[in-house]
Amino acid sequence: MSTKGVFKVKCPACQEQFNADFWTVVRGDRDQELKEMLISGEFDLLMCPNCSALVAYEETFIYLDPGKELLVFVMPEAYLTEKDKWLEKTRADCDLVKSSMLNLQSLCFEPVYFFGAAELAALLLRDRDIEEETEVLEFIAAEKKFRTAGIHPSFARAHDLPFSLPYSGPSLSKDTALAAVHDIIASNDALLRAQNLLKILSALETAEIGFVKRREKCNLNL
Ligand SMILES: [Zn+2]
Repeated sequence: MSTKGVFKVKCPACQEQFNADFWTVVRGDRDQELKEMLISGEFDLLMCPNCSALVAYEETFIYLDPGKELLVFVMPEAYLTEKDKWLEKTRADCDLVKSSMLNLQSLCFEPVYFFGAAELAALLLRDRDIEEETEVLEFIAAEKKFRTAGIHPSFARAHDLPFSLPYSGPSLSKDTALAAVHDIIASNDALLRAQNLLKILSALETAEIGFVKRREKCNLNL
């Protein structure tokens, strides 16, 4: 579940103080409404109960979506003036958060640190773009009776790849993946991330593909 905290906020319009609920943990995988608010930029807007003015308010929060390999610490944009200090502090908090609040001993992906919700919004928007292209790719793959394997989302983001890897035949290898991706690109040359996949696969020196999700899950019991 997402978690709220209560903070005292002073309205810049009427100078009145009020208590504001603010999300301190956002579960991106479970709370679509909050995710939408982040993407649309409404997340850190509050309404003053006294004069109804919209008040921009930032507080550090955590965005968590384990399936998408996202543990993001979002600090207020104003912290950028003392960036190193806050990064150090938040990195220390991160270890605490992982072991206590999230009940994680280890993560199979690196936490990310952002200043301002806009940075997170940009990431989520780009993810949505990748998801759309992945859906098209999976649709064509299914039509061609190809199987697909999940690509680690953090790897896909870093290399601008789709979130799935199609392959022909019963088992995944460099050759079966290359055959499937070639075939898919031949029927739809607008899939730019599939083209990136082709480049990455062609450059692989072994038949084994290290960037797909294995059966055994990483240490995430959420
Ligand atoms: Zn006010």
